[in-house]
Amino acid sequence: MSYIPLKKCRHGHAYRIRSRNLWIGVFNKKTKGFVGIREKFGDEYLFEEYHADTGAPYGTVHPIRLIEKCPLKDIRDDLGSICQTCKAPVKFVEEDKKTHEGKWRHVKKTNCPEDKPYGASAMNLSNGPLFDYLEKVSKREIKRPCHSCGKIQKHGCGSFCYTCPGEICVDCFNKTHGYCRPCVAAGRNVMRQAVGYAKQHEKVKDHPKKLLEADKKGPEESKRVSNECAFQMRVFALCEEGLFKAVDGFEQAKKPSKDKLILAAIRFRKAAEANKGNINMLSSGVSVKEDPKIVEYFDSHDMLLRVAKDKKYAKS
Ligand SMILES: [Zn+2]
Ligand SMILES: [Zn+2]
Ligand SMILES: [Zn+2]
Repeated sequence: MSYIPLKKCRHGHAYRIRSRNLWIGVFNKKTKGFVGIREKFGDEYLFEEYHADTGAPYGTVHPIRLIEKCPLKDIRDDLGSICQTCKAPVKFVEEDKKTHEGKWRHVKKTNCPEDKPYGASAMNLSNGPLFDYLEKVSKREIKRPCHSCGKIQKHGCGSFCYTCPGEICVDCFNKTHGYCRPCVAAGRNVMRQAVGYAKQHEKVKDHPKKLLEADKKGPEESKRVSNECAFQMRVFALCEEGLFKAVDGFEQAKKPSKDKLILAAIRFRKAAEANKGNINMLSSGVSVKEDPKIVEYFDSHDMLLRVAKDKKYAKS
């Protein structure tokens, strides 16, 4: 999924983002974070998450689309601490450098008491104007039509297409396995799945050799390698399933594309379908090369892998 890199994010601008807890956020250059409204157990409050380019585990935001410039100057999520009694700013004054103990004191001198063991009663002052602004933007953004079906859904567009920055409703996401309809019609999902399939194939093609070598090194190594291979085979099978789903979706979209990779994927899908019963035999090493159907299966598979590794597609 492509997203806007940290370097290109503009301070004080609102973005449609993909993140753990937020869907809209205002970018702050200083913190490299996005402040948005988080909902938790029915509570709504300002919360900051950080740009993915800052790295794991805290970089959780992928900004997808610039919405607009936020008119507010102060875009911090909280504006410091205030006194619960008089609402004037307070700050913590450390009195013991060793234990870090100290008291909350009013920033400007006042008659307000500081007689508690911890001084004045402090509370966080949330950035109210920023909250109001984000609420306003959210109400507007949720009325954006789905990029895929064009309808305005009650809960807005909760998801993004895997291959383009299109925002799609949950219905469309489920129906097209995560791709928007224009991407399915263009076969962009087929290309992506085919390349993923080719990558996994690289990992599994040497399994027989690897297993033989591990056997020679004793039972422990044999077990470790066979577990590793079994896991890679499962991932490979999932990739194949994803590719088949993508091809089926593309064919239903009835928009024939002449792209080489898509044609190879369609051919492979058909050959696999025609050989459903025989494919298990292939993996058990039975020689079935003489059967013309199986030969066709092998050929289409090779063709798909060859095209998918083509420089033109390898990067996507
Ligand atoms: Zn006070
Ligand atoms: Zn939709
Ligand atoms: Zn798309």
